[in-house]
Amino acid sequence: MVTLATRMSRLGTDSAFEVLARAKALEAQGRNIVHMGIGQPDFPTPPHIVEAACKALRDGHHGYTPAGGIPELRQAVADDIHKYRGVEIDPSTVLIAPGGKSVIFYACLMFGEKGAEIITPDPGFLSYESAISFSGATAVPLHLREENGFAFDPDELLSLITPKTRLIILNSPANPTGGVVPREKIARLAEGLAKHPHVAILSDEIYSRMLYDGHEHTSLLEFEEIRDRVILLDGWSKTYAMTGWRIAYGIFPKSMYDDAERLAINCHSCINTAAQYGGLAALTGPQDETEKMVAAFDERRRLIVLGLNDIPGFSCLAPGGAFYAFANITGTGLSAKEMEEKLLNEAGVATVAGTSFGGFGEGYIRFSYATGKDQIAEALKQIRACL
Ligand code: PLP
Repeated sequence: MVTLATRMSRLGTDSAFEVLARAKALEAQGRNIVHMGIGQPDFPTPPHIVEAACKALRDGHHGYTPAGGIPELRQAVADDIHKYRGVEIDPSTVLIAPGGKSVIFYACLMFGEKGAEIITPDPGFLSYESAISFSGATAVPLHLREENGFAFDPDELLSLITPKTRLIILNSPANPTGGVVPREKIARLAEGLAKHPHVAILSDEIYSRMLYDGHEHTSLLEFEEIRDRVILLDGWSKTYAMTGWRIAYGIFPKSMYDDAERLAINCHSCINTAAQYGGLAALTGPQDETEKMVAAFDERRRLIVLGLNDIPGFSCLAPGGAFYAFANITGTGLSAKEMEEKLLNEAGVATVAGTSFGGFGEGYIRFSYATGKDQIAEALKQIRACL
């Protein structure tokens, strides 16, 4: 009998992938399923990006690249950060990674170990808690409340810091809630963190370009007083409909970069070379496809929020960003998991229970509205009929 390391039992999983597998099994039995579980744009990657990657292969770019990424891409990321966040960064601190999930994993491995604490949003993206517990650290939940638009309260967050706190993970615009943290709350947090120089911050800004209703993105990198402790995560998956290309980046403080790169060299060497050229074309080329995609998400967002609020027992805040609606279902009397199962099995709509994102997700269901308006209308019709 083989013996696996005990740490393996501490790894969680991404429930959106589990729901997808169950939904596919139902489809294989002939059922029609509307997919609102997994979070990925239903648009194709813009053609100029695909062409740049194909050209890279035709031009012979098929070997390893430097572990941090090709210099042109790291420079393009630095230029993009300057363009959208107004901050100058050193391109040598950019680590191109095989998806944002790797940046999360590396950051948790860099800071987490037995006895350490890492503060993480709840409800929050499920990879955070999984990576934290795998590292051996304790995940300390930061309760995101619906009455605050699912933004954190900076003073509550600061009160969770102990001498054992190594890292705080933040995510705005957020998965699964679509919440956007207003600038003044981030500024207050940055100010408060000055008193806690032992704490690093991982700011997951992967939805930074997906904002609605006049919301603006505030990056943790903008606050000079904490910049030497901020790891910024962003990437291409959502902004350019490139989830399957597996490319993202982390910007690490200079003092942490070499450790992050050593993890990268040990785990993945470097990123798929053609994908890096695609990523370069995405950042340096026209941005209108992203703008069109966000405009389409905005229309769908209005449709789904209106529809969900019309279902007895449901209520849903208008999300300010990302492409998720996080509906409160407490009025139905069902638990989040019961509702997830009912919607999949009876209404044929794949969603994810709020509890998949942490204990404070009880009473909520996540709908990814990165799907066509017709499918959204069909899902709403089916849900109404089923409930
Ligand atoms: N961060 C958040 C908040 C996400 O929702 C996701 C994907 O769903 C990721 C990171 C990871 O994205 P990827 O690994 O595709 O770059």
